[in-house]
Amino acid sequence: MNEFELIEHIFLRLQDEQPLPASIEKAIGDDASVMALPNGARLVSCIDTLVQGRHFSADWLEVEKLAFAIGYKAVAVNVSDLAAMGATPHSILLALALPERLAYEPWLTEFAKGLFHACKLFGVTLIGGDTTRSDALVLSVSAQGLLMADTPAVYRSGAQVGDKVYVSGTLGDASYALQHLDNDIGQELSHRLHMPTPRIKLGAALAQIGATSMIDISDGLYQDLGHICQQSHVNMCLNLEQLPTSNSLAKIDLAERLLCQLTGGDDYELGFTLPAHIEVPISNTQVSCIGEVIAVEPSNNINTDNMRELLRPRLFYNGHAVTQAQPAPFTILPKLTGYQHFTG
Ligand code: ADP
Ligand code: MG
Repeated sequence: MNEFELIEHIFLRLQDEQPLPASIEKAIGDDASVMALPNGARLVSCIDTLVQGRHFSADWLEVEKLAFAIGYKAVAVNVSDLAAMGATPHSILLALALPERLAYEPWLTEFAKGLFHACKLFGVTLIGGDTTRSDALVLSVSAQGLLMADTPAVYRSGAQVGDKVYVSGTLGDASYALQHLDNDIGQELSHRLHMPTPRIKLGAALAQIGATSMIDISDGLYQDLGHICQQSHVNMCLNLEQLPTSNSLAKIDLAERLLCQLTGGDDYELGFTLPAHIEVPISNTQVSCIGEVIAVEPSNNINTDNMRELLRPRLFYNGHAVTQAQPAPFTILPKLTGYQHFTG
């Protein structure tokens, strides 16, 4: 069972037996939940856990060296989920399961410096948490954000046929760095892995101008845009030659690069859809159009078993469909599953 099946089959199905309170506008299934407040504003909440050996190195020396970045990233990944709803970050809670080996002042000070650096950059306040002893370092940060009364939340479920598909920043950098920290390009890109930049202003601007769907790209572009397809009941065409690429990543082999960009995690960029007549907001953040939302073929009979297979992006390269029979620019069509946090 993977994490999506677990959530669907266990949490969503059993929760169905209990009605949601009227104030909950969005529960399980998006980047964050949305709760209506009495003044028309909404409280947006999410939580993410970082586990030693899964979300960052298992190696103690690495963990000791990366104290600042680990503190920073625990905040940044949650803020990115809030940004993907269009919300403005407000506050965080931190649950820290701390191994004996790290429970000394210099490590904790560096960690806290990274955490508070992120808090200051992203406009959030640490308002509480919990601390326990554990064998491995495990960090859970929950974050709250606000949406003002006049701004709608942007869900994964609103993409419409004809919308353009966009992504912020560049893709694949963090994934390449994770696999190649030992070479020059990996080193050049390591800041993208350790210190990601949540796109707060862009997310908020997109909510205001009428983005139809949005997700934070944390587990691989292909899989994450697949969530928009599944929840919006659409397909997408994605043009591989339009995927935004950093100068450093442009130096590597094309097929390897595209694999990082489609399936690598840790980008923390925003993937979103906009009706064709709406211009992307002008900001310092690069935005690239990478495709279009298309209708599901009417002959396809979609049910819960084949939904993931049928509601997903279709890949094109210079106008040609990338298929098993014609996989160019790949030699063999790769498996496009992104990060799986639960399996394996
Ligand atoms: P993200 O990558 O944006 O953090 P996930 O893919 O981890 O989102 O989770 C998908 C959805 O399932 C989210 O809405 C999340 O809140 C929900 N979810 C994940 N794990 C659980 C759980 N144990 N209980 C309830 N909801 C969960
Ligand atoms: Mg997310």
